[in-house]
Amino acid sequence: MTSHSRTGLIEVAPHAWAVIMSVIPPEGGGPNAGFVLAGDQVLVIDSLISSGFSQQLFGYLRQVTDKSPTYLINTHSHGDHVFGNQVFSPPATIIAHEKVRETLLSQGEVMVKSFAERLSGLVPDIQDTNVIAPHITYRRHMTLHLDGRTVELIHPGVAHTDGDTMVYLPDDKLLYAGDILFNHIFPPIFGSSTGWITAIEQIEVMDIDTIVPGHGSIATKKELGGLKRCLIELRCQVKDCFNRGLSSEGATKQVALPYLEWPRAERLPLGVQTIYQESTNDGDTN
Ligand SMILES: [Zn+2]
Repeated sequence: MTSHSRTGLIEVAPHAWAVIMSVIPPEGGGPNAGFVLAGDQVLVIDSLISSGFSQQLFGYLRQVTDKSPTYLINTHSHGDHVFGNQVFSPPATIIAHEKVRETLLSQGEVMVKSFAERLSGLVPDIQDTNVIAPHITYRRHMTLHLDGRTVELIHPGVAHTDGDTMVYLPDDKLLYAGDILFNHIFPPIFGSSTGWITAIEQIEVMDIDTIVPGHGSIATKKELGGLKRCLIELRCQVKDCFNRGLSSEGATKQVALPYLEWPRAERLPLGVQTIYQESTNDGDTN
């Protein structure tokens, strides 16, 4: 399947869909979600940013099945992927990496306030979010043996965040990458730049034809390669600034990348700060 710029409900494999949204940022670009049907079981991947958007997502689910959602995967803890949990659960059992539960329990309410401050104009019901934490957690890898369908949950290590999950359907060569893939949108590096590059390298050796990104249009390994080059070049330039003794603010001004033409380039300072932190922790000057 080739990449394209359609939004809404898109069947990406037999009985597996992507929901490509244009919720935030204002220029569009996700967050996205997905559904997988397996016999009587219904798997939902991410719940979007608020009850209102999640109800819209539920409407898409009703276009493909009358059955109740069985499981909801949270690909990571960011509010734009989990603040709609309450719409699906109950009845769905929520599954995520253990760090997602930890983060939502300890910081959920603070996250709602901070999202509301930034986004209440776009998402008026965001302050009413009742944060529901995952019920089942895992650490490295988990396999769901659904009715006639195998679904693997893979934690690639600290990458976009410390609790990312990629949802892999090996029989369909399909990956729901969560925020490990931002497709032609500048990436916010909260976790680790090296970890994120490693996560992409893990995907590169997997048998995959189609990737549903956390943000942006449906993709293939080609678009993943674009993000990898962005991260490698960014890391290289920022480390060079670190080694020359520049401040992170100074480094932010020095970085010159073609990828800064992607939407959301204002996230550059976050990436620079994360890479500075990694460099300080490493104590290395390579
Ligand atoms: Zn995210």
